Amino acid sequence: MTPRGRTHKNGDCFHGPTNTYTVTSPIGDILVTSCPRGVHSIEQQKGITDDDFLPNVSLQVESVHQQWDDNGYTYKPAVTCIKWLKTYFENSPALKDTKKPGVCLARYNEDSFQAKAWKTLAAEIGLGATVSYSDLAKMCGCPRGARAVGLAMRSNPLMLLVPCHRVIQSGGVPGNYCAGRRNKVKLWLLLHEGASL
Ligand SMILES: [Zn+2]
Repeated sequence: MTPRGRTHKNGDCFHGPTNTYTVTSPIGDILVTSCPRGVHSIEQQKGITDDDFLPNVSLQVESVHQQWDDNGYTYKPAVTCIKWLKTYFENSPALKDTKKPGVCLARYNEDSFQAKAWKTLAAEIGLGATVSYSDLAKMCGCPRGARAVGLAMRSNPLMLLVPCHRVIQSGGVPGNYCAGRRNKVKLWLLLHEGASL
């Protein structure tokens, strides 16, 4: 039996151990990490930066590797997430009718401002829409919180699902993505969604 605790020493969740899936996509490999309850993180593989970003729209979205083949747990949120990512990249108009995966924010304080910023963004700013840092701060009830929104976006663990690429500078300039290391990725995502910049 796995000992019950808030988190395990290897970063697993009190809902159970996590599993990480490697998913191919037009913007490079995406890693989806989930516990049995919900998705913990969606992130691009670390090596991808603007220097070597080579989008490939012919690449299908599919899981090509998983950390644990069978550790006795099932990871339905990860399966739902991979289907959601496939729809995002291959048939984005259908996204509004596609089930979103459950998420697990057990590693975070759900009452924090950053969690509020993530949830507000995910709920309010849909495909192809954009919002400025200051307007998102207002939507979170903190009109002077543009900087705090910027920090929250920088620490967003759930790319695309929490669409921090849709948070742009006032005046339509996309601005930074992944602390400025993936600005081309942000632009690609916004154009993919048909956002007007
Ligand atoms: Zn969890």
